[in-house]
Amino acid sequence: MPVDKAIITHAHADHARPNHNKVLATEDTINIMKIRYGNDCANFFQIAKYGERIYLDGTVITFFPAGHILGSAQILIEYKKIKVLVTGDFKTIPDRTAQRYQLVKCNHLVTETTFGLPIFKHPDPKKEIKKLIDSIKNNVEKCHLVGAYALGKSQRIIKLLRDAGYYEEIYIHGALEKISNYYSYKNIELGKVVKINKENKKLIRGKLVIAPPSALKDRWSRNLSNIKLCMASGWMSVKQRAKQKLVELPLIISDHADWNELTSTIKESGAEKVWLTHGRDEGLRYWCKINQIEAQALSLKKED
Ligand SMILES: [Zn+2]
Ligand SMILES: [Zn+2]
Repeated sequence: MPVDKAIITHAHADHARPNHNKVLATEDTINIMKIRYGNDCANFFQIAKYGERIYLDGTVITFFPAGHILGSAQILIEYKKIKVLVTGDFKTIPDRTAQRYQLVKCNHLVTETTFGLPIFKHPDPKKEIKKLIDSIKNNVEKCHLVGAYALGKSQRIIKLLRDAGYYEEIYIHGALEKISNYYSYKNIELGKVVKINKENKKLIRGKLVIAPPSALKDRWSRNLSNIKLCMASGWMSVKQRAKQKLVELPLIISDHADWNELTSTIKESGAEKVWLTHGRDEGLRYWCKINQIEAQALSLKKED
C-alpha cells in the first residue's frame, strides 16, 4: 500500500515497494529501486547517507549499514531520549558485496528473526563455495545451475567464487543482468559475466549458470541439458527442503543473521526491550526470557 513518506531499509521486493509519494533510503537502495521499478517509482527521493542525522517530524533518523545486500540499512529513530533501532534484514559477517554491518546501541530493538532458532548456525560461506568449485572440477561434463536471488545473493556468489580463484566466465539468467551491472558500476568486481542466450547455451558444459530460484522450475531451465542443480540459501541447512526441491548440491549461504548473530546482536545492542518480526519469534522470545530481556512478537501489517 503506497504511503506519503516511506523509509526503506533495502531494495528487496518484500521491503521496497513502488508508488510511495516520498522515499527516504540510501543511494544504492534508491538506484536499485529505480532499476527494478522505473525512475518514477516514487514522486520524491531523498538520499540518506550512513551516519547522517536526518530530522523528520520531531524525530531524528539515522541509517547504519546492515551488511545484508548493497545499500542495506538499519534505521535508528531517536525521539526525545529514546532510541529505537529497526534492523531490517541484516547479517553481521563480512560480505564484500555489501557495506559492513555496524553494531548500534539502542533502547528498543526491532529485529528480524528469519533464522531465529538455535538449529540455524550458518557455516563459513568460503567452505560452501569450495564445495561448488570442487563439484565443477569433478563433473566437467555437467553444467552447474545455481539458484540464487537476483538481487544480492547472486552477486555475492559470483564475488565469493572470484575470491576463491574461480575465473571462468559465469553465465547468468537475464533477470540478474541489470543488477549485476550496477554492482560492477559500484566497483564490485564480478569478472566475466555473460547473459545466457540461444547461441551460447551450447557452451555451458563444464560451466556455471546462475538463475533466480523462480526460473529453476520453468521452461527456461528445462532447455538446459545435463544439469547439476544447486541452490544457495540459508534454508539449505534443512535437508528436507533441499530434497523437496530436488537440489543435488545445497549451498548454505545466507544473507540473514543466524542464531548466534541474532542473540549476540540483541545482547550487544544493550536494548532493554526487543521486538521480534520477519520470521520465527518463539525461540528468541524464550532466549530473551532466560537472559532477562523483555521481548515481544511484533506483527506487521501485510500490505498485499
Ligand atoms: Zn532482504
Ligand atoms: Zn526480508
